[in-house]
Amino acid sequence: MIERDLVVIGGGSAGMATAISAYDNGVKDIIIIEKSRFLGGILNQCIHNGFGIEEYKEALTGPEFLSRLAVEVKSRNIEVRYQSNVIGLSKDKIVTYSNAEQGVVQIRAKAVVLAVGCYERSSGAIQIPGDRPSGVITAGTAQLYLNEMGCLVGKRVFILGSGDIGLIMARRLTLEGAKVLGVSEILPYSNGLDRNIIECLNDYDIPLYLSHTVTRIIGKSHLEKIEISLVDDKFVPIPGTEKTFEVDTLLLSVGLIPNNDLLTKIGLPLSKSRGAIVDEHKMTDIPGIFSTGNVLHVHDLVDYVVAESRSTGKAVSVYMQGKLNLQAPYFETRSGSNILYITPNKVRMANVESSLTLKFRVSRPLKNQFIVFTFNGKVIKKMVKLAVAPSEMQKVSLPKSLFDQDTGELVISTEDRL
Ligand SMILES: Cc1cc2nc3c(=O)[nH]c(=O)nc-3n(C[C@H](O)[C@H](O)[C@H](O)COP(=O)(O)OP(=O)(O)OC[C@H]3O[C@@H](n4cnc5c(N)ncnc54)[C@H](O)[C@@H]3O)c2cc1C
Repeated sequence: MIERDLVVIGGGSAGMATAISAYDNGVKDIIIIEKSRFLGGILNQCIHNGFGIEEYKEALTGPEFLSRLAVEVKSRNIEVRYQSNVIGLSKDKIVTYSNAEQGVVQIRAKAVVLAVGCYERSSGAIQIPGDRPSGVITAGTAQLYLNEMGCLVGKRVFILGSGDIGLIMARRLTLEGAKVLGVSEILPYSNGLDRNIIECLNDYDIPLYLSHTVTRIIGKSHLEKIEISLVDDKFVPIPGTEKTFEVDTLLLSVGLIPNNDLLTKIGLPLSKSRGAIVDEHKMTDIPGIFSTGNVLHVHDLVDYVVAESRSTGKAVSVYMQGKLNLQAPYFETRSGSNILYITPNKVRMANVESSLTLKFRVSRPLKNQFIVFTFNGKVIKKMVKLAVAPSEMQKVSLPKSLFDQDTGELVISTEDRL
């Protein structure tokens, strides 16, 4: 069996940044295993501008952004195995992949980083009543067809879900000559970034129907019409509020799901983020198996994925040098009121250098709040937030000195300021 120090599964921005950082921190025997023909993952199809403002201090397209990382990978002695699908990962860190050239191959690794990104929630997952014609596809798939294959998926389009990918596709399809008749969102607010609502919908007079969902799909072989309805506060459609639109395409932008099949197959439970349960070094409960990027939790921007994954690469190096105390006591983190998820889920303070970085999201838009950090019943920090929304990941670093114990529970919650 082949042996490697580090196997990185997935060559998107998370996998590349992890491998580069691990290499620069002393781990030299690395292989990235990538399913497709290219490095870069989802960035290959994101040809719009706006990536890299944090990482490179300039606005780049997705392919420009990924090529900077790919150059860094290639300038180091990091092997990349393309068109190779990882089909198995065992608890003792044996990675199994298959490809047309080699068949099935196994690698025994000292450390494994899972960086396989996420997949889009499909029409089957949301079960819209009506017919099952062609013309109903996810927004990311439409982006792939248009930007990588040059195929316009439809001429009259409606979009369900106001996540960023749906918003960006509304603008992109309009620029390519399609008519986007509207975007409906079941929540009373959009989950997309404010800048995308303005630049992708308002600038093109595309209506956003908040508290509306698609209640019927109509069409024999191909989509002919959709019906949308206003929903009540329990998301139940209100009879008499139906509107119909003649469209040939319905794009679904109804959520990304971290792709954790490899972890669940070996019995690792998932957290509220639908990613792995990890410690402060992004290591799962199996020593030497790490998770990073969108497979750990869905990020707003690729810049955050890269920053997180550079720290994962460093964490792998610390682990490989035997410098992590895995027997040290730990405390857990828990979501309190209005907090959707927190990562990391457990923290060994003995392994934290000077401060603990926590990432979390609120579960609904809130104004005029305190974010409260309570450790073993004692409030250790309160932060003022004039406005918070689920679409914006929160990142907070707390100094180690705030924690006077190694065990127990850290709860993050929100509290009204008035
Ligand atoms: C459709 C879409 C549009 C986006 N638009 C923007 C935007 O406009 N601006 C912005 O800043 N961010 C955007 N993002 C977010 C950002 O691009 C992502 O957060 C980031 O690129 C994710 O990086 P990743 O490496 O975690 O995942 P990915 O880029 O998804 O990479 C995962 C990689 O793993 C590989 N892989 C998966 N399974 C296997 C397997 N079994 N074996 C081997 N390889 C495997 C995949 O082929 C892929 O290359 C977008 C995300 C999506 C999904």
